[in-house]
Amino acid sequence: MAKIGTDINISLKLLNRSELVGIPTETVYGLAANAFDPVAVAKIFKVKDRPSFDPLIVHTSNLEKAKSFVDKIPEKAYKLARKFWPGPLTLIFNKKEIIPDLVTSGLDTVAVRVPNHPLTLQLLKSIDFPLAAPSANPFGYVSPTSAAHVNEQLGDKIKYVLDGGICSVGIESTILGFDGDEVVVYRLGGCKVEEIESLIGEITLKVNLSSNPEAPGMLESHYAPLTPIVIGNINELIKKHKHQNIGTISFKDEINGIDPEFQFILSKKGVIDEAATRLFTGLRELDALNLQLIVSEYVPDVGLGRAINDRLKRAEAKRN
Ligand code: AMP
Ligand code: MG
Repeated sequence: MAKIGTDINISLKLLNRSELVGIPTETVYGLAANAFDPVAVAKIFKVKDRPSFDPLIVHTSNLEKAKSFVDKIPEKAYKLARKFWPGPLTLIFNKKEIIPDLVTSGLDTVAVRVPNHPLTLQLLKSIDFPLAAPSANPFGYVSPTSAAHVNEQLGDKIKYVLDGGICSVGIESTILGFDGDEVVVYRLGGCKVEEIESLIGEITLKVNLSSNPEAPGMLESHYAPLTPIVIGNINELIKKHKHQNIGTISFKDEINGIDPEFQFILSKKGVIDEAATRLFTGLRELDALNLQLIVSEYVPDVGLGRAINDRLKRAEAKRN
């Protein structure tokens, strides 16, 4: 098992030796390597069993620092970074040579983010290289929102997880790209579309389910537990699958006829942001119960609800 602790110096030493470290962010835990070091970055793909066509997000401590590895920052990006960084928003820029092709899967653009977590920001401020860090889970599985989640799945493959507690947002970052004057959403996530639009005006959504790696990260099946999951009207789905050993993930209501042990309620008060924080924990807990089926429902499709619903859809797509 990896060591879990809060020691920045241990993390630094490992990163300087081309090793990987689990790092906390406000979205999900990352599996970090020196983004300028192809040997270290290659280990990320190996440890996660991640296909090389799926590019990584590069983390840095501020936009000024990002200028050493990105080119041509659009005006709207400055505006977005000023308002949302540090925070759950990833921006896609043209990359400079110094970013290895492995990081971007050969694309000439690189995804960049300043995470909002005190420990990881402290780490980023103390190094002169950015950190390439995808979510710290085996490819395709549910992202980790605690150090224990990372250790459960990758603990025998990495040496250290920097423990920053439970992720406060709990869902991956929103990814935006720039196409001329147009701002495009490639992934719904922890930064709300409504807030982005109120800052820079209308943006274009390109987050359709697709199995086309040309639209990176938009793989149809992703974020999925091993147990099959179906999404819809929970009571109707329970009736339809009545002979199965079922667990439920509901938005705010208790479900009649299902043992409370097999139920996960995202937010008893019906608060969508709380539901986002708890979604991946719920998927993991039910996945550990050896159920035949998980039944869930969509949450209201506003704010972080849009990202939650996107993840549920992709989790369901795994089996269909
Ligand atoms: P993860 O860090 O596991 O959440 O995955 C990172 C995701 O960022 C990828 O799956 C892509 O969706 C996205 N991404 C990274 N780099 C790029 C890029 N240059 N262009 C578009 N999307 C990107
Ligand atoms: Mg991921």
